[in-house]
Amino acid sequence: MEIKKGIAVSPGISIARALVIDAEDYRIPRRSINPSQRMSEIQRVKNAFAGAIEELTQLEAAQDQAESGKVKDIFAVHLRFLRDRSLKKKINDLIQAELVTAEYGVSSILRRIASHFTKVKDAYISERAADIYDIERRLLKQLLGKRREDIGHLTEEVVIVARELSPTQTAGFNKEFVKGFATDTGGRTSHTAIVARSLGIPAVVAVEELSESVSGGDNVIIDGNRGIVIVNPDRQTIEEYEQYSREFIELEHKLDEIIEKPSVTRDGVKITILGNIEFPDEAELVLQKGGEGIGLYRTEFLYLSRKTEPTEEEHYQAYAETIGVFRDRPVIIRTVDLGADKYTQSKRFAREPNPFLGLRSIRFCLQNLMMFKTQLRAIMRASVLGDVKIMFPLITNLQELMQAKMILRDVMEDLGDESIPYNKDIQVGIMIETPSAALTAYSLARDADFFSIGTNDLTQYTLAVDRGNELVSTLYSSADPAVLRLIRTVMQDAHKAQIDISVCGEMASEPEYIMLLLGIGVRTISIAPPMMPEIKQIIRSVTLQDCNNLARKILGMNSERQISSYLRNAVSKILPEVF
Ligand code: PEP
Ligand code: MG
Repeated sequence: MEIKKGIAVSPGISIARALVIDAEDYRIPRRSINPSQRMSEIQRVKNAFAGAIEELTQLEAAQDQAESGKVKDIFAVHLRFLRDRSLKKKINDLIQAELVTAEYGVSSILRRIASHFTKVKDAYISERAADIYDIERRLLKQLLGKRREDIGHLTEEVVIVARELSPTQTAGFNKEFVKGFATDTGGRTSHTAIVARSLGIPAVVAVEELSESVSGGDNVIIDGNRGIVIVNPDRQTIEEYEQYSREFIELEHKLDEIIEKPSVTRDGVKITILGNIEFPDEAELVLQKGGEGIGLYRTEFLYLSRKTEPTEEEHYQAYAETIGVFRDRPVIIRTVDLGADKYTQSKRFAREPNPFLGLRSIRFCLQNLMMFKTQLRAIMRASVLGDVKIMFPLITNLQELMQAKMILRDVMEDLGDESIPYNKDIQVGIMIETPSAALTAYSLARDADFFSIGTNDLTQYTLAVDRGNELVSTLYSSADPAVLRLIRTVMQDAHKAQIDISVCGEMASEPEYIMLLLGIGVRTISIAPPMMPEIKQIIRSVTLQDCNNLARKILGMNSERQISSYLRNAVSKILPEVF
């Protein structure tokens, strides 16, 4: 049994066999074979070794001609490894003893060896683990060939283990079979984590050397509450976790009783809870969990889940479906926020050195006008179906807002010329996600109907900490005094300018922050639907006076640590069963 610690990003417990996905998406499930199949699996191992040796020998010969000494050396090392009879014997012994497939035998033994390498303190030796993975991939390619198994066609419950998962891969998971996931990389507000929360599957990210320590078919516990992954747990641990999981589900059911109750503080202040969604079919869940509308529809997932750009009609259908669920309640459609960790398939290879500071979001749209106008046309056509609002992401200055609004006006004129109905008075708002927008909020407010604070990006850009990079994840915190002061500034400016303001970043769905946000003046939040009952429970347990007092204290503090611990302490008194 091995216990590993990471960052908890999506609550819940899952216990299942691991499905390990490497960079090439190989799926290596543990499959049992009949005793009579042992010899044929051992023969397959033999053939795979022979095929890999032949492939490498050819590659080595080609390098000979190119006289590339270093690469040739690497191939020679790999060849020596593959010709080592004791390696093949270990794999064959595993197949004999545990009645597993050739793929599983290869993956399991090679990952065990790699894991030993990584534990050696000597950098030269630990880096050899990469060679072992290379050999593993080469052998698996021989074994699986064209039969690479498709994660889209699972037939049994699994937890996914991977070095890295993109938001697109995660959004494609079939919830019926994928019960949780854990990755080596990532951060709490990375988009992969956000998708996990929306799907409601337990997830842990930033688990050091996880994918190297797990073989397909290993039993794995994912504890998305405490950020723990346990590989091959013993019987007692499994039983304890099964009990804990039952208790957690019970608590969730108990919290669900609150869904029908109004979202008001003990002293009667109404707090509007809206939902964040990535796909139209999530709208129903927002409603079920008591959400009063959509505060953030991340429409870029329309692009991410397919190879070609969606047509105007496809955009329209997606919006109409969402609006249909809410009718006259607000649906805030955010225009595409592509770039950074959310690439379209076709743009994927247009690598940028600093993608989070590059051509992302509204900047990308302003340079891809055809694509932008297609989406705006669809939103405007859908605007007559309900209370639709438009929101532009990552506005960094007034000029960008003016440009985006000008394009929107063009689109409206075109629709008018074509006698297509649209809402001429549609509200147009912006996300406040950069320090520049926060510091100029008052002037932006003159040209925006509403603000929504995107604390995920605001934290990232204020602290200069990549939100998805596990190496700096301890530095990423919305409780930093700099972030809090910016949020307060934006709140004050919005109130002064008398425009609506909400918070739609993950901060609003984290229990420890909600009192502070109310104390700073927030009255509307937009959050992942599974978090709604818990957040409403806190809202209903406090008075605004409590929140104001807490905010005053917090804003007088200078240390992130002090603030975080004060906030955790405050919420643990309100929701002791969760903390
Ligand atoms: C944010 O940045 O806080 C936000 C809500 O947008 P996203 O997470 O999609 O970047
Ligand atoms: Mg953002």
